[in-house]
Amino acid sequence: MNGVGLLQIMYKGTRGEKSINSSEAIIKGIAEAGGLYIPNEFPKIDIPFSKLINYDYRQLSVYILKKYLTDFTKEEIEYCVNNAYDDKFEKGEIAPLVKVEEEFFLELYHGSTLAFKDMALSILPYLLKTACKKLNIKDEIVILTATSGDTGKAALQGFANVEGTKIIVFFPEKGVSSIQKAQMVTQQGENTHVVGIYGNFDDAQKAVKEIFNDKEFNNLLKDKKYMLSSANSINIGRLIPQVVYYVYSYLSMLKHGEIKEGESINVCVPTGNFGNILAAYYAKKMGLPINKLICASNENNVLCDFFNEGIYNKNREFKVTSSPSMDILVSSNLERLLYHISNGDEDLVSDLMKKLNMEGKYIINESMKEKLKDFYSGFANDKETYKIIENTFKDNGYLMDTHTAVAYKVYKDYKNAMNDNKKTIIVSTASPFKFPRDVCKALGIDNNDLNDFQLLYRLSSFTNINIPNSIRNIENREVIHNNLCKKEEIKSEIEKFLKV
Ligand SMILES: *Cc1c(COP(=O)(O)O)cnc(C)c1O
Repeated sequence: MNGVGLLQIMYKGTRGEKSINSSEAIIKGIAEAGGLYIPNEFPKIDIPFSKLINYDYRQLSVYILKKYLTDFTKEEIEYCVNNAYDDKFEKGEIAPLVKVEEEFFLELYHGSTLAFKDMALSILPYLLKTACKKLNIKDEIVILTATSGDTGKAALQGFANVEGTKIIVFFPEKGVSSIQKAQMVTQQGENTHVVGIYGNFDDAQKAVKEIFNDKEFNNLLKDKKYMLSSANSINIGRLIPQVVYYVYSYLSMLKHGEIKEGESINVCVPTGNFGNILAAYYAKKMGLPINKLICASNENNVLCDFFNEGIYNKNREFKVTSSPSMDILVSSNLERLLYHISNGDEDLVSDLMKKLNMEGKYIINESMKEKLKDFYSGFANDKETYKIIENTFKDNGYLMDTHTAVAYKVYKDYKNAMNDNKKTIIVSTASPFKFPRDVCKALGIDNNDLNDFQLLYRLSSFTNINIPNSIRNIENREVIHNNLCKKEEIKSEIEKFLKV
């Protein structure tokens, strides 16, 4: 029963698609006309912080998720949260906050695949399964994912052995790091399937998108009681769980006396597809005292230009950097921000997205530009990224990965330029052991004659930091998935695995 005054949140598409409830939005992933689902209202944090500080991560997750997923019962959300955030998080704490110099690093990489994507992909399978149950969908859900590295493994790990689901991941055979590849091809679970493809990430991504749009194939699958779904970051089932750690980290600072109640903080986020920082924006809209949202890019600085000039222009050279998970020129989730800052002008958003598609470029109007003042944006190149990893380790013994380093560098620039001394959270998105070659290079460790697995040991002995359990001895694990195909063969790979 919905009591009087209880807010019902509905989800509507950014390009004018009709509103549906959260269960449907999680299952559909993307709206018909290509828009993304957004909540029709931002629920407010309505329990005093002085009380919320006593909540652990799971309790806080239930509280925040229930505010957005209003068609789920509290018991259903508890079931999802308790299965997602358990002892697979290595540090005991789900989202530890570590103080280094004057800043606070929010380490979101202690889940089983060592990147922040675990925070959402640990819970998405349970949300999806629960949503299917609520809507009485009996078909088996087949998750199709193309990955450039981190999403694939996090999705595999999240969906492995989840009843009623199968997951198929395609990755560019030559486009991922050795550690990332080893993580994927050693994946256990009867319902998992991993395939390397000849070609780059764009080829994999394009081929998978074509499968989603192939009506005939989808009908064939439907006859066999299969339903395709996606685990990528446009699903609101990935976005909303990410709001939790922003609230949680604020409460941690409050609890430890680092800030006073109501004091505002900044957050600085290494950004690619604009999912993580958008969750921080949602937290702010819910009433969390966030001052600036600092959006950090690498040399693929299309977002940085957007925030500074109000022009989005993807017509530029794609650069391969030391922070590969941010090598992206079309940040899908930015569409949601465009919707919010245009006061829900769906025609305008559709028009801008059409321009992006046709011309690779769009310009926003003055009133939208005015609303970008919540944000600050900068970027760091590889040289600056290496330098800050080295200096921070030398000066403070704190080791960070390349993505986090981009954020830290941009934050330092912000602090100098704006003369703002507010307490700041730097979001730490991956373990340094996931990118051992670049981190070793940054620290000046000779790495030319060693492979990535040997480098893990070198990095560990140099820094005196243990290799995380989930990748220790990974080079000796049994390779379970030894599949390689051409991009034209993706469909037959799927048919083979599903036996259709
Ligand atoms: C995915 C990823 C990012 C970018 O996050 P978005 O939500 O796409 O902006 C940053 N760092 C790492 C390590 C990632 O895996």
